[in-house]
Amino acid sequence: KAARFPAHKDLEEFNFDHQPSADRNLIAHLGTGVFLSEAKNVVLLGPPGTGKTHLAVGIGIKAAKAGQRVLFDSATGWVARLQEAHSRGKLAQELVKLRRYGLLIIDEVGYIPFDQDAANLFFQLVSSRYEHASMILTSNLPFARWGDVFGDLTIASAMIDRIVHHADVISLKGNSYRLKKHQPAASTA
Ligand code: ADP
Ligand code: MG
Repeated sequence: KAARFPAHKDLEEFNFDHQPSADRNLIAHLGTGVFLSEAKNVVLLGPPGTGKTHLAVGIGIKAAKAGQRVLFDSATGWVARLQEAHSRGKLAQELVKLRRYGLLIIDEVGYIPFDQDAANLFFQLVSSRYEHASMILTSNLPFARWGDVFGDLTIASAMIDRIVHHADVISLKGNSYRLKKHQPAASTA
């Protein structure tokens, strides 16, 4: 698939009863793609298995169907791509090229910490898109822990500042959906 989604996940398959911390009206609104015309971002935070990637892909599929150019990769995948461009002396061109994509999905910020070069490249990606084109980011870590990921509080806060200036931040809660079938269905409290 052109957008390189890891798996096909539609918003329609998302069970909002299992994830009450996801506002279904907000997610439906994001599915309309209006946020893209405003270069707004979406940040999905929460523990593993709470549906972050599912929602990011679901919104991305809707955007692609509406004719937007969408690219999906993990945070480490994006950094590798930028490192490769940088090593060819083509970082600026790569960032310009990526701005022709209305939506970049950056999955799994925080699973693997960045060294300083990686953090700098990632910051340049965020800066180059700020108020120009949208990103959806997912992370298992709250913003307060992003300083650990990027090894630098100053870079992390400058980045978060730009990401959330125009963004919907959605915090997912609860247990992993992957483990759902192993749990008793009983209590709904
Ligand atoms: P995360 O990215 O937060 O770790 P995923 O989005 O990959 O979690 O979800 C893990 C698996 O569970 C995926 O197969 C996903 O489709 C499914 N899943 C998670 N939450 C829901 C939900 N509320 N309704 C339907 N499927 C879900
Ligand atoms: Mg995920």
